[in-house]
This record gives sequence, C-alpha cells and structure tokens, in this order.
Amino acid sequence: MSLVDLISPLDGKVFSQINSASAAETDLVIEKAAKSFENWKKVSPGDRAKLLRNFASVIDLHIEELAQLEVKNSGHTIGNARWEAGNVRDVLNYYSAAPERLFGKQIPVPNGIDITFKEPLGVVGVIVPWNFPMPIAGWGFAPALAAGNTVVLKPAELTPLTAIRIGELALEAGIPEGVFNVISGKGSVVGARFVSNPKVRKIVFTGSTDVGKTIMSGCAEQIKRVTLELGGKSANIIFADSDLDLAASNAPGAVFDNAGQDCCARSRLLVQRNVFDSFMEKFEVAVKEFQVIDPYQDNSQMGPLISKNHLSRVKGYLTDQTQIAFVGSAPSDEGFWLAPHVLIPNSLDDKSLTEEIFGPVVSVVTFEDEADAIKIANNSNFGLSGSIWSRDIGKAIRVSRAIESGNLSVNSNSSVRYWTPFGGYKQSGIGRELGPDALDAFTETKNVFFDTTR
Ligand code: NAD
Repeated sequence: MSLVDLISPLDGKVFSQINSASAAETDLVIEKAAKSFENWKKVSPGDRAKLLRNFASVIDLHIEELAQLEVKNSGHTIGNARWEAGNVRDVLNYYSAAPERLFGKQIPVPNGIDITFKEPLGVVGVIVPWNFPMPIAGWGFAPALAAGNTVVLKPAELTPLTAIRIGELALEAGIPEGVFNVISGKGSVVGARFVSNPKVRKIVFTGSTDVGKTIMSGCAEQIKRVTLELGGKSANIIFADSDLDLAASNAPGAVFDNAGQDCCARSRLLVQRNVFDSFMEKFEVAVKEFQVIDPYQDNSQMGPLISKNHLSRVKGYLTDQTQIAFVGSAPSDEGFWLAPHVLIPNSLDDKSLTEEIFGPVVSVVTFEDEADAIKIANNSNFGLSGSIWSRDIGKAIRVSRAIESGNLSVNSNSSVRYWTPFGGYKQSGIGRELGPDALDAFTETKNVFFDTTR
C-alpha cells in the first residue's frame, strides 16, 4: 500500500491521503472484474435495468455529499458540483433503459434467417481526467454496465474521492461485487496496466491528446477497442448580426466555467471586425462581473485551479510579451487562484491561439466575413466544440456544417446533453459518448446465419 497526499485547491493544504495502487494490485482488480463478467452478462435485461435504476436512486440520495466532496477535492463551484453529481444519476437513468432495448437485426438473406446480436465486450477500463471527475466517469461506466460489461475505473491522481464514493454507492445499490471497480493510482502504473493487460477488452480514455496517443498506440498491440476524448481549442464566433448583449454576457461562462479547465472551453473568441469595439465593451463588463469567489457560495461562478503546478503552467502563457486586453478579479487568499484573462494575440500563430491552455484565459481575434470565420475556426489540430452567434439562421447552418468540430451550439454555449452524442474531430478524439448510439461502443455485433434448407 502506498499512500499519497490529496491537496485541496481551496487552500493548498493536504486534507486526505489515498492509496496509489501498484501494477500487481491493478491486475487483481482486473481479474476480479473478468470473473464477475461471467455472471453479470447473464443477468436478465430487466434485472440489469432495475439495478442501474437503483444505482441512480442511491446517487440521487447522495448528491449533496458528492458535491461537497468535489468542491473540496477539485475546487469546483458548489452549483457545478451539484450538476455534475446529478449528471451521473441522469446518465445512469438514461442507460438503464438500454438493457431491455439492446436490439439486434433480422436481415433478409437467401436460404435462411440472419440475426445480429449486440454482445458485451468483457472488462472495460475507464480512465478519467481531473477536470470533471464525476460526469466523465459516468459517461463511460453507465453505458458499459448497461451493455453487460464489467468496469475498472481509474480516477485522476488529483481527484479520486468522488469516484471512490460512487464505487461504494454502487455496492449499496445492489450492483454485485466485482462488476464496477474503482482503483486509484498513477496513470503510468494503473492506467498503463489497463492498456497492457489483455483481460481489459476496451479502454475509454478522457484526457490530454499526448497521453491519448500513447494509449492508442498501446491498444494497437492487442487491437484493443478504444474511445478517446481529448483536448480542445474551441471557437466562439460572434457575427455582427447576433444579439451582441446576449453573446457578450454569455461569453465569460463559455470559457471561464470550471476555471477554463474544460475540454469544451471556447478559448478562442472570434469577433466580426465591424462590431469588435462594441462587443469588447460589453464583454469587459461581463468579465468584470464574473464571480470568482469562494466556490462554496451559491453565486460563485469560478473557483481556483486544480493544483500549484497547473497554475504555474497556465501563468506561463501570461508573459511580458502577452497583450492583455483586460482581467477579471480573483481572491488573493491561499489556494490556486487566477483571475480571468482576456488576451489579444499578436498573430494567428500565437501559442495562446494554438495550444490548449486549460485555464481562465481567452484569446480574441477579429474576422472579416463568413469564409474568414470558418478558416480561422478550422485552423486548429483540435475539433471538439464551439459556438456560432448570429440571427441569420441560414448562415448559422452553413457555418456549423463547415466547422470541423463534433459539438456545436448556435446562440448557446452549452455542449453537453446526455441525450446526444459527444466527441471530437481531428486530434480531439475518436468515437462518441452519450446519446442513443454510445452502446455501439460497448458491444460487438455478432452475426448468426440459420440455414433453413436442411
Ligand atoms: P492526462 O492525460 O494527464 O490524464 C488523464 C488520465 O490519464 C488520468 O487519469 C491519468 O492518470 C491517466 N494517464 C496518464 N498517463 C497515462 C498512461 N501512460 N497510461 C494510461 N493512463 C494514463 O489529462 P488531465 O491533465 O487529467 O486532463 C486534462 C486533459 O483532458 C485536457 O487536455 C482536456 O482537454 C482533456 N479532456 C477532454 C475531454 C473530452 O471529452 N474530450 C473532457 C475532459 C478533459
């Protein structure tokens, strides 16, 4: 057993310790999940559905406890943390309908009958980052369990507490021992073992693009199935014909929510040149009103960053050469605080426009027309999310079809709805989570032909 300290971003102090599992401990948990698969896949669809609904109900009874834990461990605002715990409940409820609807097909063929079956894969390894510990875990484990797989889940080193508690709540809800397993530890040890242990049949990884590449090449060794949800550098495009008041008042939340530690953060703000000045005036007011305060307060809109290291990494983008348009406010207390920053980059190649900063920093550029906006928006290796603000619906449709990105919103900055698919183009990932089709990522299609001529 090897214990590591957990440090709260709120005050920079150690508040708990947690086991960091070894490769051997990881193998034991994988073995347990593999054994449990033999029984879990045989649980009748109705019973599996009922167990998932129970799991959702037990989570519902613990929303406040989970939310408080997340504020302490991750520095999220209490409002966000309640939403995040509620999202786990909702995603479980949504996929609880799946076991009884996991339909195959009957396909017309000559000389017989042809049927397809959706069969579970086995043990699914879910690897989670620190920025949204609860929802991202749920997007992996809920559909995986619904499809009849067992799960080994590794939370991020910095934020394991809510995942561990959710693992306990699964048992309370009657999910059989060994079906849903949470194991904390290092990515290079526990996560890497998920990739190399052949008993894990699929990896669902959410995290940085660099680690995603390592995981993908590791999975190639065994042709292991993989879903990757990676980084982003999304554009928030403000056309001159948009409701500028609405677009400007919503723009801070689009990038500074969760202190900008959001793969969908609209960290590139593209404003049509002829409304740049009026937009920036309104945007400045909104940034200065953005409530970066104690995250336990109900009106808090942003808390501290996750860690000292991450804070200094983000500050690395704020050098003497950086042209800062304006800055919001943040407490000067202990903890990893950084005020929202609005930058005006020197060129379109500036690293503040090309690299994922993952902090409360947005870069603003101007564009001339529709074609220019599309060109700038697509000038990125990423393609996860983005927004288009315009009252011209034809233009909004054309632009949303032209942008190489998996999740776009028109006159809105929200990216995630559990009813709809979520995932990235280009280096933002492979595969889709959530929505009705996510189950395809957790099943194999088996085709069986019955010869009726003999
Ligand atoms: P990270 O890549 O450092 O770590 C993510 C997880 O992978 C952690 O649990 C870590 O322990 C594990 N890991 C690290 N090295 C590993 C290895 N060699 N083998 C197996 N597992 C390993 O990412 P992070 O810093 O925790 O999270 C921030 C990143 O996550 C950002 O780039 C962000 O954009 C991305 N993200 C993407 C989405 C999405 O849905 N596209 C959502 C949230 C976050």
